[in-house]
Amino acid sequence: MSTLRFKALETLPFKDFRKDNSIEVPAKLSELFCQNVFSEETMREYLTKEAFNSIMDAIKKGTKIQRHIADQVAVAMKDWAMSKGATHYTHWFQPLTGTTAEKHDSFFTPIEGGRAIERFSGNLLIQQEPDASSFPNGGIRNTFEARGYTAWDPTSPAFIMGTTLCIPSIFISYTGETLDYKAPLLRALNAVDEAATSVMQYFDKNVTKVTPTLGWEQEYFLVDSALFQSRPDLVLTGKTLLGHSPAKGQQLDDHYFGSIPTRVMNFMKELEIECMKLGIPVTTRHNEVAPNQFELAPMFEEVNVAVDHNSLLMDIMARVAHKHHFHILFHEKPFAGVNGSGKHNNWSLATDTGENLLSPGKNPKKNLQFLTFFVNTIKAVHEYADLLRASIASASNDHRLGANEAPPAIISVFIGSQLFRVLEELEKVTSGKLSPEEKTELKLNVVGKIPEILLDNTDRNRTSPFAFTGNKFEIRAVGSSANCAESMTVMNTIAAKQLNDFKKEVDALIEGGLKKDEAIFNVLREYIKQSKNIMFEGDGYSEDWAKEAKKRGLNNLKTTPEALKQEMDKKFLDLYEEIGVFTHREVEARNEIKLEKYSTVIDIEARVLSDIARNHIIPSALNYQNRLIENVKGLKEIFSDKEFKVLAKEQMSLITQISENVSKIKLGVEDLIKARETAKAVSDSQKQAEDYCNKVIPLFEGIREASDSLEMMVDDELWPMTKYREMLFTK
Ligand code: ADP
Ligand code: MG
Repeated sequence: MSTLRFKALETLPFKDFRKDNSIEVPAKLSELFCQNVFSEETMREYLTKEAFNSIMDAIKKGTKIQRHIADQVAVAMKDWAMSKGATHYTHWFQPLTGTTAEKHDSFFTPIEGGRAIERFSGNLLIQQEPDASSFPNGGIRNTFEARGYTAWDPTSPAFIMGTTLCIPSIFISYTGETLDYKAPLLRALNAVDEAATSVMQYFDKNVTKVTPTLGWEQEYFLVDSALFQSRPDLVLTGKTLLGHSPAKGQQLDDHYFGSIPTRVMNFMKELEIECMKLGIPVTTRHNEVAPNQFELAPMFEEVNVAVDHNSLLMDIMARVAHKHHFHILFHEKPFAGVNGSGKHNNWSLATDTGENLLSPGKNPKKNLQFLTFFVNTIKAVHEYADLLRASIASASNDHRLGANEAPPAIISVFIGSQLFRVLEELEKVTSGKLSPEEKTELKLNVVGKIPEILLDNTDRNRTSPFAFTGNKFEIRAVGSSANCAESMTVMNTIAAKQLNDFKKEVDALIEGGLKKDEAIFNVLREYIKQSKNIMFEGDGYSEDWAKEAKKRGLNNLKTTPEALKQEMDKKFLDLYEEIGVFTHREVEARNEIKLEKYSTVIDIEARVLSDIARNHIIPSALNYQNRLIENVKGLKEIFSDKEFKVLAKEQMSLITQISENVSKIKLGVEDLIKARETAKAVSDSQKQAEDYCNKVIPLFEGIREASDSLEMMVDDELWPMTKYREMLFTK
């Protein structure tokens, strides 16, 4: 094992292949944009007018695509793909494993007379049948009757990866239950479109469609491939389970926005070229806080496409990283002692008339519109905070949330002190009819002032899990390895529900004789009062906030099992059913899958830790101890008793300390194995996850501590595990 570390290190001293992987970037990146995408422009070129219009209708209005049109589209797609060198096609989908899935089929079709042609039909475009039995389904189907199919999602454009035409698809069982991330997301997007469009009729009757937008920010670590391979914990769990923190970490704050190392720059350049070709509009790249941590962000897009692009990106990142002899880590907390990674989800609502509904406007009317969507979003988060928390729950994200580097597990909303004051003003609005004076006052001094306020609203709170940042809300607690679809499904579902309720309440007041604006003010006033306890402007990392939140009755669901238990609350099940996103059965199945995944992840970590501790750490420690013993014996031979006592003192003490730590590890591992076995035997998924959380995880720390102490004692030459400083500072 020690040889593995040193072999890996030996390959490092900037061998040619690492240094010379320089990438030429075309002067105009824009010319590459969408080169490998069956984009609107390409469709215009390849499709008949009838087919093109039909696809556009499907994208914009959600209308069904006729069979004969699907046939035309299939042929056009195939011709285009073949002109780009594609030989295969696949339905590209996002099963609940968390990665993307594809099953490649060839266009090649043998026909009679020993001949063959390239064929692709509407049938094949619309539907494909992967063997669904090995994807997680939470018990919806038994394996022997595994019958699911993937179905084309025309609202996300097809693209080419390598030599395969990829068709974004949803994945559902024959009984109609969703088995992926995309299908429920589409339902939620549809619901929020209807709800927001209907509310928009108060303000602008020209609006016929509202599209939620998402701009994600992806954080990640890069580790040299050889060093990555030398760490079994990284390879098997995506994180380090052991490792003493280096003398230098992120204390100097010298990595954030610092100059990007050459090899990383080459990786980024190649990545950006690939992203451009696939239509992923990446614009921002920079170093992050921790050493070897970076971030990439695109322009925001319509949510469905943005989610697909993030999944696609993670896939491409891993491939491109390999070419530059890096391994990319999406884990939320790959290294103890330095910051972990997240994936901020910036969310807003855009109309088909080109407006951002979370952007204040130029006149009081537009600002009332802004306030309507702004306050409704806050109210939605207030009502369904726990659901939002559950949507970002995972074993890996647990390490990050509340670890004083990421938002706490308590969901709160930050809006900035000035907007907070506006809401306080609105809270004072008279009940029922408003006097002309009050209306003027509101117009001029409350609603009218918003754009000015926002201009100097520079206070940005990095510690809030849900922050308003000028013209969008930013969900900051999403994990870097997550599929954005989960948080986006919840966000759009709760927004839809809230806007529906708002519409009903305002309509009722209007029917009762209030003017439209009066009705809106009246409802908003109540919402502000009801949601006040979720708004928090202070330091989300502080102890005081945890106490204060408790007083306010906000939940602090620190672990995944707690969050997932809350997800099954009847209120949430009913919400999903009302909005038409999930049936009870689907939520149960998904909840089950997440619990099982949680337990499995912890189980694997426990096994890997036991293995490394017993088979790598203990033998190396004993090996070094033997050297010390030899040394002590030698000293005893050549020195007098009195001299020996002085000279061998430190070695003797080290020998004792090594034994102490070795025995801590040995006993710790024995306890861990027992706890793991007990947890594994629990049949109820919720209880099992709780067991792993409360009885298995706490045993990791003692083993780690003993091992990390040994790392500081044992001769560097004998230490088997690649060290933090080597992984974090090799560029
Ligand atoms: P930061 O949060 O790092 O300070 P910005 O405020 O510039 O950076 O924006 C961050 C992200 O917000 C970008 O990825 C961008 O795409 C996204 N974003 C900007 N406007 C919107 C919007 N209307 N809807 C969704 N995302 C948006
Ligand atoms: Mg941000």
